[in-house]
Amino acid sequence: MVADKAADSTKEEEAMNILGSTRTVVKTALERLGYPEEVYELLKDSMRMLKVRIPVRMDDGSVKIFTGYRAQHNDAVGPTKGGVRFHPDVTETEVNALAIWMSLKAGIVDLPYGGGKGGIICDPREMSFRELEGLSRGYVRAISQFVGPTKDIPAPDVFTNSQIMAWMMDEYSRIDEFNNPGFITGKPIVLGGSHGRESATAKGVTIVINEAAKKRNLEVKGAKVIVQGFGNAGSFLSKFLHDAGAKVVGISDAYGALYDSEGLDIDYLLDRRDSFGTITNLFDNTITNQELLESDCDILVPAAVENQITKENAHKIQADIVVEAANGPTTMEATEILTERGKLLVPDVLASAGGVTVSYFEWVQNNQGYYWTEEEIDEKLHENMIKAFNTIYDTSQTRQIDMRLAAYMIGVRKMAEASRFRGWI
Ligand code: GLU
Repeated sequence: MVADKAADSTKEEEAMNILGSTRTVVKTALERLGYPEEVYELLKDSMRMLKVRIPVRMDDGSVKIFTGYRAQHNDAVGPTKGGVRFHPDVTETEVNALAIWMSLKAGIVDLPYGGGKGGIICDPREMSFRELEGLSRGYVRAISQFVGPTKDIPAPDVFTNSQIMAWMMDEYSRIDEFNNPGFITGKPIVLGGSHGRESATAKGVTIVINEAAKKRNLEVKGAKVIVQGFGNAGSFLSKFLHDAGAKVVGISDAYGALYDSEGLDIDYLLDRRDSFGTITNLFDNTITNQELLESDCDILVPAAVENQITKENAHKIQADIVVEAANGPTTMEATEILTERGKLLVPDVLASAGGVTVSYFEWVQNNQGYYWTEEEIDEKLHENMIKAFNTIYDTSQTRQIDMRLAAYMIGVRKMAEASRFRGWI
């Protein structure tokens, strides 16, 4: 009990740090763009935050009550959009920060959305399929008044997948009494999902890695890459980079990491990973996640959780290019240290925007009832990501600022402008 309390306060402290740094960068970005203080006052928090309690009948017959959240940051540009994570460390503050990030992502890749985010405090690794279905459906019942295809559109995030999206879509369609695929994205293809959605985040990261490498005159073919995290983003990314001829020298999961300077056998690892991305339990010669981050490579991709590169280890990062595939892996102090050391840091709100971009394509296809091929999706995704990368890179060069601040400036602009036109500020 005492230990639980301590763990909860550490989680809350971490979430407060994340929210605090996000707000600081949003504030600086708005100041640089010349917006008055009240714009920051509006954008520093989600406009709406719903907390729900979800009773679920567990397999042993008992009823467990789960806590969940849904945040809608700002809907001036359009409906809010963002994933739902199932994780024991979810907190209201974290969901709030993640919703702000979604607004920034939508602004960066120029989607007609604001940011939203959801989360449920649970550990899906310890739940059965049936219990997960109960929880997914219960969450939708609890938030059904709050969300909808023209209001707020959920999607997958940490530890949620297309099966969970399918249950959620089915539950919403039952409540709404008609088939409503545009309520949620990241669905299986047969239920109106889009080609390329599952691998979209990783594809987007691969595209920005290629662009970043060009700026540093580095060939991706033959480059040494470390990918921290072997979940949806990390596993697809390792495969894409491996197939492009990069040498993936390190990968990790929540329990440890593997490193081989000759390059790892990615196809074998993908074949053996479980659905949560666990793989290192099959090996004896593992290192820690922290050791992995500091190991020799050209490109480092944190694709796991928040707060991985901090002021403690930023001095020891060997990579020349750091691309944030996870949300919030680098702290503010670490961003400064890496920038001072001349590293090229591609921020999360840009690097991980491929997921929501293809979610947008999925929603458009659902709305029009006409579906695109994988090639069409791929082409559109490339176009969006390359344009976003170069706009942000150029802004960072001309204004002599790091890419994170440049990305935030691009990300908040449309939202601030839309809020002004609506007469909110
Ligand atoms: N959860 C993903 C993200 O953080 C995707 C959101 C979406 O597809 O709406 O960007």
